[in-house]
Amino acid sequence: MSSNKGTAMGGGGEEREHRSPRMSERVSASGSTSQSCIFCRIAKKELPSEFVHEDEQCVAFRDVNPQAPVHWLIVPKRHVERLHDLTEADRPLLGHLVLTARLMAERAGVAESGYRLVVNNGDDGGQTVPHLHLHLLGGRAMRWPPG
Ligand code: 5GP
Ligand code: ZN
Repeated sequence: MSSNKGTAMGGGGEEREHRSPRMSERVSASGSTSQSCIFCRIAKKELPSEFVHEDEQCVAFRDVNPQAPVHWLIVPKRHVERLHDLTEADRPLLGHLVLTARLMAERAGVAESGYRLVVNNGDDGGQTVPHLHLHLLGGRAMRWPPG
């Protein structure tokens, strides 16, 4: 455990669940502005969510539709639509997100048993929320190849 300004863990089902249309449809429908972006709104606390972690650059919270006993999302506060939109200048942010995921794995108790980090990018990558996020999945054996 270390610097964590977030609230305690526990609970869930805090926000509405949605398996949305493909990302390209969402983008055209929403414009994917930070005003309309669900993860921006969660990060800005405009929508209720129980953070397992918060710092100046990112937040982490439970996925509303968990695919494993541990399924947490690590989300930058800055609105970045896709991993592929990152540039050279974003190396520190990306490193911070990955190391935060590592910290979350410790916090979730899956560091030793193992876990998977996933970033879905774009339609064929299976991305449904057009705001960069890392999935931390653990608590069960993962299969390969992914679907
Ligand atoms: P993607 O499919 O874009 O890689 O992942 C988006 C994830 O966000 C999905 O696993 C989905 O369940 C989760 N999600 C979508 N909307 C919400 C929400 O409002 N709250 C939370 N906690 N998770 C969400
Ligand atoms: Zn956003």
